[in-house]
Amino acid sequence: VNRFSWIEPEDVQGALLAGALEGALFKAGGVDVADRLKEGLEAPSALVNLRRLGELDFLREEDGALVIGPLVTLHRLATDEKVLRSARALALAAGAAATPQIRNMATVGGNLAQRPRCWYFRNEHFHCRKKGGTHCFAIDGEHEFHSIFDNSICAAVHPSGTATALVALGAEATLRSSKGERKVPLEELFTPAEKDVTRENTLQHGEIIAALRVPRAERSSYSKLMQKQSFDWPLAEAAVSLVAQRGMVTAARIVLGAAAHVPRRALAAEKSLTGRILDESAIADAARLAVDGATPLQRNGYKVDLFKTLVRDLLAEGARP
Ligand SMILES: Cc1cc2nc3c(=O)[nH]c(=O)nc-3n(C[C@H](O)[C@H](O)[C@H](O)COP(=O)(O)OP(=O)(O)OC[C@H]3O[C@@H](n4cnc5c(N)ncnc54)[C@H](O)[C@@H]3O)c2cc1C
Repeated sequence: VNRFSWIEPEDVQGALLAGALEGALFKAGGVDVADRLKEGLEAPSALVNLRRLGELDFLREEDGALVIGPLVTLHRLATDEKVLRSARALALAAGAAATPQIRNMATVGGNLAQRPRCWYFRNEHFHCRKKGGTHCFAIDGEHEFHSIFDNSICAAVHPSGTATALVALGAEATLRSSKGERKVPLEELFTPAEKDVTRENTLQHGEIIAALRVPRAERSSYSKLMQKQSFDWPLAEAAVSLVAQRGMVTAARIVLGAAAHVPRRALAAEKSLTGRILDESAIADAARLAVDGATPLQRNGYKVDLFKTLVRDLLAEGARP
């Protein structure tokens, strides 16, 4: 039986104070939190409900960037004109996640901080490395959907599609706790397994994602490949953001999702594009380099080709404005 108190704060300050209590856990849409409680993954002493805090629900344009509150739902991100116009990859990623019902509940803050869907991690009977154990059951077990990069300690992949898009868009997160505020490039929020396999991000206890700042992208896009063609988790997903002048790429960000413990930037592929015309040979080089260094496991080598295809197709689409 899960026994916990329910804290309904009146404002953000109250939420931060409550969130700092020992054993407290923030809840936004509750999609992931409810699953984790049901799966016996954790037993918080209190749930702090952020959901009704209007102060955290905003989406506006400011100095050439989008500023997004953590309570903005995936549905709103997928359909808002401002997001479609200046952060198309984010709108596509949000719209491709889960089901319409879940997208109405799920918030972007919760999406970024959700925990991985590795079936061993989600099963209370497996005391895996993520739970402080000494073994990754996926590496020698069922790992068809698991990571193909940096997977020698833990093979779980990062679950967030919006993270893939937001890292490609160069977003910055504002984090707040009762002790103060800090800003971090979003990609630095996520924790590689070598650093701390029990965590996916560097959020401290009692700290929330209070806002996201997403610079306006000239051209960006996102795509996802699934086993079932509807309402499924990605086998592979990728997001691309490009700046080009007279057909020549001047800056590129390419991020692979469901590939590693963190949303993974394909740095060699990005570098190979810079200064080149986005033609067939530049695209083929970038697609090949995007999977450079992959270490697929026995039964997920097929994902290498999926990522190559995704990157090739996204670049061929020219990451439309
Ligand atoms: C069938 C199904 C399919 C799905 N498919 C996809 C998919 O394809 N792609 C994808 O990306 N997701 C997918 N999801 C996951 C779903 O999108 C997430 O569970 C959801 O976005 C979590 O958001 P939430 O607001 O409900 O978070 P909650 O469940 O409320 O919280 C999740 C975590 O985030 C923390 N948290 C919440 N808000 C904040 C904040 N502001 N600051 C810091 N921490 C916070 C909570 O403490 C908790 O640890 C799927 C889920 C289901 C059930």
